[in-house]
Amino acid sequence: MSEDKLKLVILGEGRVGKTSLLLRYFKNKFNENEKSTINPSFYEKTENYNGKTYELKFWDTAGQEKYNALNAIYFQNAIGALLVYDVNIPETFEKVKDWANTLKEIVGKNVIFVIVGNKLDLLDKSLLDKNTSLVNEYIKKENCKIFYTSCKTGYNVEEAFDTLIKSVLKYVQDNNIVTNKRAGKKLEIRQQVQPVEKKGCC
Ligand code: GDP
Ligand code: MG
Repeated sequence: MSEDKLKLVILGEGRVGKTSLLLRYFKNKFNENEKSTINPSFYEKTENYNGKTYELKFWDTAGQEKYNALNAIYFQNAIGALLVYDVNIPETFEKVKDWANTLKEIVGKNVIFVIVGNKLDLLDKSLLDKNTSLVNEYIKKENCKIFYTSCKTGYNVEEAFDTLIKSVLKYVQDNNIVTNKRAGKKLEIRQQVQPVEKKGCC
């Protein structure tokens, strides 16, 4: 088959719900005690757009973001991204801006991203206004969309993914992009090797 392959990534601080979003969207599942290690690093689906078939591959991290050890390989050749934060922890939104900058530096400023404010079910509703004012300015500046989601209830998860996917496919077709044939390449998770301290001479 000669489907065009597209790589998409999911970025955000550890524990904001990245793996949970993928599990909800691709398997309609939610685990209260999600453990990243037991899940696959990739989630794939096929989409048709204007008579053409695309193979989409979402990459998930293996938790390296918690140690600031996300390899450039993770970002390389991505055409779109979900940038996730936890609506209950404003600092995680500040990090979203950093991830967006890193992503643009590595893959170029035309990369398409959608912002996700996750764990809406845990949010004290009186804080929502504060939350939206925090992000609105950024959304306007970047001209991107935001979705407030809950992986627990499933609220808005499909909408967030579908919006990203549609925007990416439209961009690819409108600009006649020759899509990345390397999207199917296996994720290499490199161990962060700590230098061993030598104790004395042998
Ligand atoms: P990741 O490190 O960004 O991949 O985050 P995980 O998907 O592993 O989620 C971290 C924790 O938050 C897990 O215990 C999830 O069950 C929980 N979690 C994720 N999304 C939600 C949500 O929308 N609502 C609630 N209540 N918990 C969530
Ligand atoms: Mg994870």
